[in-house]
Amino acid sequence: MGSPPGQNSPPASEPAPPIPESQRKFMDNPEVVVVATKKVACDGGGGALGHPKVWYDMSEEDHVECKYCDRVFALKGGSRDPGK
Ligand SMILES: [Zn+2]
Repeated sequence: MGSPPGQNSPPASEPAPPIPESQRKFMDNPEVVVVATKKVACDGGGGALGHPKVWYDMSEEDHVECKYCDRVFALKGGSRDPGK
């Protein structure tokens, strides 16, 4: 996070194989959940991606990533708020 795109890219000698949309979603676009408080609970939303409910405290940050399901909880109005 933070580096401009392309700066650390390898030489573009070979085009990268296309990544299926469904897979790309997990790699580059973890689900961002906008929350109003710094303390959040995540249980993965249940179902196949569910996990035991855990609590996270953003502390000094304005976002926190769930270590189980890679969801990002972004503080409303913070740097990771996609709706800003
Ligand atoms: Zn989670």
